[in-house]
Amino acid sequence: MLGVSGEEEGQDGPASASVGSRAELHVHLNGAIPASTVKDILADETTVLPQGFEIERDLLRRIRSKSLAAYLTPWQILRLFPRKRENLDRLCVAALANLAANGVRFVELRSSVLYLATLQKCSPTQALERLIESTGDAAQRQGIRRGLILTVTRGDYGAIALATLLQAYQDLGEPDDVVGLDLAGDEEMAYPAQLPSLFRQAKDRFGLGITIHAGETGRAENVRSAIELFGANRIGHGTAAGKDPDLMELLAKENVCVEVCPISNRLTGAVPAEEAHPLQEFRRHGVPFVICSDNPGIHQRGLVDDHAAAMAEGLSVGDMRHQFEMAKRYSFMESLA
Ligand SMILES: [Zn+2]
Repeated sequence: MLGVSGEEEGQDGPASASVGSRAELHVHLNGAIPASTVKDILADETTVLPQGFEIERDLLRRIRSKSLAAYLTPWQILRLFPRKRENLDRLCVAALANLAANGVRFVELRSSVLYLATLQKCSPTQALERLIESTGDAAQRQGIRRGLILTVTRGDYGAIALATLLQAYQDLGEPDDVVGLDLAGDEEMAYPAQLPSLFRQAKDRFGLGITIHAGETGRAENVRSAIELFGANRIGHGTAAGKDPDLMELLAKENVCVEVCPISNRLTGAVPAEEAHPLQEFRRHGVPFVICSDNPGIHQRGLVDDHAAAMAEGLSVGDMRHQFEMAKRYSFMESLA
């Protein structure tokens, strides 16, 4: 079993690992910022921390959390910045540099544009434009190709949020930088009845890829609805599907790719300590999957470590060799050389 157990494991960081060509299809921009950059920006923006939040204790998640909610503690402050335009540049530069250190050649970065608009006191259209510029410049510096996935949060305002994001996307002339839509957030939460059809319409009308965080907290039915109702091309995490042979058959038949985040899945408890990771089940049932890092800055790991973790969970060197091709095949970005 993988030792994401909390003790220091002699991790020398990604730079020490042998780095081949990798691709990243499931990474949250604010979860990919190195801790030192987070601290610099908080200081620069004189951010008032929420009561009881202690940076040294609460910013990183390196040991298994008691619950998904506990794992998400760092987001109490990750959603408080960047308020300054230049700090958006700064965090993008740092996040993309880390991805480059992990051999990432292309990445689909996901981010919440509406949070950014609120923080920067600008319109969603301006926020999206800034995000395109900042991530694009940072990626170019590292020789990485990047696409953007716009994240919608589950809950009552999901439909309004999606409509607002799509309007911003249209206002900017449907830029190629935006490649997909994501639904994230608490899987126990209800969402407006029309939300799935709005996702499907966006897919049909704009050709955007759809990825849905589903089956991370044990709800296999969320994976099924992601495929059947939202028209998902990919599933984020999807660990609950591992125990449902019918669902795995559906994933394989519909050619829906699971974004497997091995380190994150252990830290959140999506895969309990005493259980095997469903990766082996996915492979046995012919379910396509890609290995991803989810929130590498918060884990203080990188995609290299997630690849190592996947091998510790039972994947072979041969499986790992296919990963770059798999990522190309299931990426929402076009014409990847
Ligand atoms: Zn995620």
